[in-house]
Amino acid sequence: MLRYVNVRTKNRTEFVDITHDIQNIVTESGIMNGLCYLYVPHTTAAITINEGADPSVQRDIQATLIKLIPFDGDYHHREGNSSAHIKSTIVGISKVVFIEDGRLVLGTWQSIYLCEFDGPRHRRIAIKIVKDG
Ligand code: ZN
Repeated sequence: MLRYVNVRTKNRTEFVDITHDIQNIVTESGIMNGLCYLYVPHTTAAITINEGADPSVQRDIQATLIKLIPFDGDYHHREGNSSAHIKSTIVGISKVVFIEDGRLVLGTWQSIYLCEFDGPRHRRIAIKIVKDG
């Protein structure tokens, strides 16, 4: 079954920690061992797994992406949000996380983030959980 996490972003660029929402869906599924596929069906958002303890890391990643791919550049796309499309492609729109003993297998410092690059908007993350064997 396909499930969704819905997120309402508040800023043009923002990382939203969705780790607990994903874990809740895994727990509700009752699947103890398997794979959790995460997919972002948007062209100006992305998903990443990175440090969840120090918010400065998210800030630094966002600031560096903005520096590398500025909002205004020699872009042809008429909607005016090419920088967001490019960031989405570079960061990526899917992840797979292992499930063991009913828990997402993440490192101590890892969290899962929806990456907003053209907010504020309503976003959703599609989740497919597949059982081992
Ligand atoms: Zn566009």
